[in-house]
Amino acid sequence: MRDPNCIFCKIVDGKIPAEKLYEDSHALAFLDLEPRAPGHTLIVPKYHAETLETLPEEDAGPLFSAVKKVAKMLMRGLEADGATIGINQGAAAGQVVGHLHVHVLPRYHSDGGGAIQSVVNNKPKESLGEIKSKILKIT
Ligand code: 5GP
Ligand code: ZN
Repeated sequence: MRDPNCIFCKIVDGKIPAEKLYEDSHALAFLDLEPRAPGHTLIVPKYHAETLETLPEEDAGPLFSAVKKVAKMLMRGLEADGATIGINQGAAAGQVVGHLHVHVLPRYHSDGGGAIQSVVNNKPKESLGEIKSKILKIT
């Protein structure tokens, strides 16, 4: 399923260009147009889904397998010391393009960046147990 108005669907269909690094029947990886690190890559499912929640179950495993392959390619090809791997899911989390994509940012000891936890510091007022109860709806 593709959305004709979606920029990443257009990349999947080859209608707009991208620096592609990896492709299989379920996923495509290409370099981010505005990289925040050398080799900043996006991995997308070929199926148009806005978030993980709406991604068909059968596409979830292959997407993660593609992330694993691409992360390895980037680490080796760019001699990275590590990688930050993540999804901006929803506008509140910074998602701009409405087609699910996994960012892989090659990392270096000297790059001045932080850990993934540094994107937010919204410490909870409740205990971990209270939060767990909310999530699991235990009263
Ligand atoms: P997010 O939606 O997670 O905030 O980020 C979207 C990412 O897609 C951004 O990092 C942006 O640079 C990248 N991007 C947006 N449009 C294009 C495009 O047409 N081609 C490529 N290669 N990357 C894009
Ligand atoms: Zn799309």
